[in-house]
Amino acid sequence: MLETAALPHGLNARVAQVRALADAKGFSSAPERVWEMLALIHTEVSEATDAYKKGEPLDHVGEELTDAVIRIFHLLSALGLDADALFDAKMARNWQRPHKYNTVRGG
Ligand SMILES: [Mg+2]
Repeated sequence: MLETAALPHGLNARVAQVRALADAKGFSSAPERVWEMLALIHTEVSEATDAYKKGEPLDHVGEELTDAVIRIFHLLSALGLDADALFDAKMARNWQRPHKYNTVRGG
């Protein structure tokens, strides 16, 4: 019988999918690429910003945001981090914060 508890699930399953694609397409996940990978996350967010600013279809904005998610997942994999554990811990912490936390000057 297959032991499913050991298989990736949730975000970690998506991280594994992205890593498999990156490996198959020849994109390195080496530690020396971390700075580049961080910068490329910014480029995708900028592309989403530009598409939204120009009034492009929201599907295109979403595609750029998805590119950002893919790049974040690739970096999480490269760093060997547990995306599900990090997400769950951060959400739990955020739920403990006060209403509109860290927004003294708006945001
Ligand atoms: Mg893009």
